[in-house]
Amino acid sequence: MPFDKLPIVIVGAGPAGLECGKELARAGEYVIIFERNPSIGKKICAGGITWNGQLQNLPEDIIQRKFHAQKLFTPLQEVELVSAEPMLATIDREELGSYMANQARKLGVEIRLNTMVSKITSHHVATRNSITKEVDIIQYKSLIGADGASSIVRKHLGIPVRDFGIGIHFILDQKVNKMEWHFAPEYFDNGYAWIFPHRDTVSIGAYCDKRVLKPAQLKANLINWASHRGYQTENISVKARRISYDYQGWNFGNMYLIGEAAGMTSALTGEGINAAILMGDFLAKHLREPKRYPRLYPGLVQKWSSHKHMVDITRKSSFKKHVLPELMIAALRLGLIGFEKLELTK
Ligand SMILES: Cc1cc2nc3c(=O)[nH]c(=O)nc-3n(C[C@H](O)[C@H](O)[C@H](O)COP(=O)(O)OP(=O)(O)OC[C@H]3O[C@@H](n4cnc5c(N)ncnc54)[C@H](O)[C@@H]3O)c2cc1C
Repeated sequence: MPFDKLPIVIVGAGPAGLECGKELARAGEYVIIFERNPSIGKKICAGGITWNGQLQNLPEDIIQRKFHAQKLFTPLQEVELVSAEPMLATIDREELGSYMANQARKLGVEIRLNTMVSKITSHHVATRNSITKEVDIIQYKSLIGADGASSIVRKHLGIPVRDFGIGIHFILDQKVNKMEWHFAPEYFDNGYAWIFPHRDTVSIGAYCDKRVLKPAQLKANLINWASHRGYQTENISVKARRISYDYQGWNFGNMYLIGEAAGMTSALTGEGINAAILMGDFLAKHLREPKRYPRLYPGLVQKWSSHKHMVDITRKSSFKKHVLPELMIAALRLGLIGFEKLELTK
């Protein structure tokens, strides 16, 4: 082992953990990432990324489809937004995962798959390998929770996840050409449904705050809505996950939270890949130069807060949940606001 120093331990090899690990290793840190799954990137996700998010940074072969236009539907409007730059693209999470893991490994990050962090103390983690059943105790210099919506690091810190939405989708083997967003309060309350085309498949899904629709209701409404729109809904496999947007900070002494573990996702759309990468990158910068990078990007926190505010006001008022999407889409159509209002970027 080339290092005689303690490692920085990262829990979770999602976009947040891989980005952070890569940048720390670039700066000469000894980094170990523990991932409980046997492979990287198997994640329930529609794989949508935006132009102001990661679309400009990722290599072409990671991008599945790019969209210069997208359609937005409300009960009263049908709008097509068009731009010179591709506004959105889709990626496959396993392809993104292996691309990011290769980059991290090249810089010396050690990624231990099949290894779950099962216990945390102030200077050690206990891990368990699901194949060998081996239990290991690792001493760390810093511990980074990049372990998603049910983060063990966050639990250890005693920060409950109070605010979350439900993301739910199914995939059809069908080539679809248009990217669509549907604001249909009778089905999705103050949430929305998406149609995100990939190379030869399409993700059809919905997102809504857990306080307004229960997962079983959201699932029933999604199937009902999709079949009304002519999509095949027999024998489909519908998958759902919590999306935590309960951001309560990132810096807790020698422990840190990034990405969805920190709750840095959009309450409005459920978008979180870009924010996870941004937070991973930021934390690596902070650990290298704390004086220069003392605060998480204010623009990102401000965007997160404004999305949460919009969900809070629409969920409490039936009038607002019908009127706000109409106003927002009209403003987008008239060019009064840009699509970046909906993106969780810095
Ligand atoms: C249905 C659905 C659709 C979505 N669509 C989009 C979309 O189109 N665009 C978008 O930007 N976002 C989308 N999201 C959100 C996005 O998937 C997440 O915000 C993003 O993956 C967060 O990245 P992360 O690195 O923080 O966490 P994750 O990607 O969740 O990675 C966390 C990793 O930690 C590992 N882990 C957890 N606990 C442990 C442990 N104890 N020990 C070891 N490893 C552990 C997990 O196995 C996982 O690999 C969607 C989510 C859902 C549910």
